[in-house]
Amino acid sequence: MKELVIKASLLKNNNEMAEKNRQLLGNQKVLTINLMGSPGAGKTAVLEKILKYLKNYKVAVIEGDLYTSKDGERIQGQGAEVIQINTAGACHLDAAMIDRALKELEQRQLEVLIIENVGNLVCPASFDLGEDKKIVVMSVTEGNDKPLKYPHMFQRAHMVILNKIDLIDFTDFNREEFYKDIKSLNADMAVVETSCRNEEGLQEICKYLIEEMKIKKDSI
Ligand code: MG
Ligand code: ZN
Repeated sequence: MKELVIKASLLKNNNEMAEKNRQLLGNQKVLTINLMGSPGAGKTAVLEKILKYLKNYKVAVIEGDLYTSKDGERIQGQGAEVIQINTAGACHLDAAMIDRALKELEQRQLEVLIIENVGNLVCPASFDLGEDKKIVVMSVTEGNDKPLKYPHMFQRAHMVILNKIDLIDFTDFNREEFYKDIKSLNADMAVVETSCRNEEGLQEICKYLIEEMKIKKDSI
């Protein structure tokens, strides 16, 4: 596993670099996912499980973390190449960090690149990385009020993974309100309920990724 330490750059320069990334990844037809969510929502756990189902595809993972390489170490050995980005305390990934990581992934003929962002529901929503799809992981233990409290994150997402669904009966999570709020922010949002303990919903996410990979491959 390669570990890079990169300081954050400014938002105003970000969009240009994101477009550059998008073009490069587009030319190579690599489906690129920006996986976001608060700390402890289960981003890494979901990713670990997904990689198991994607064994027949060429996958790379970019792991964003404040200081450690703990998540990268968990992901390594699941069949994907892992680049760990240590943000030196910055609370989000930016497009320049991804540009730097992509240089390590040249000539890999990837089919899908999954970027696990730093755990945070605020600024990762504002930093385009050049991805095709944004996926937000949230867990039932965080409470159903998260979408309305962090609307930018949820408005921009293509899919929400509602994780730790096996624990729902032990929480006050109000499913009805959650779905109502999600639809009010983004009527087209796909929501997948998952549990990494009993593997519920994980195959559905993989089905989505495989379909999107095909769309990307067939794109001109
Ligand atoms: Mg993680
Ligand atoms: Zn930030």
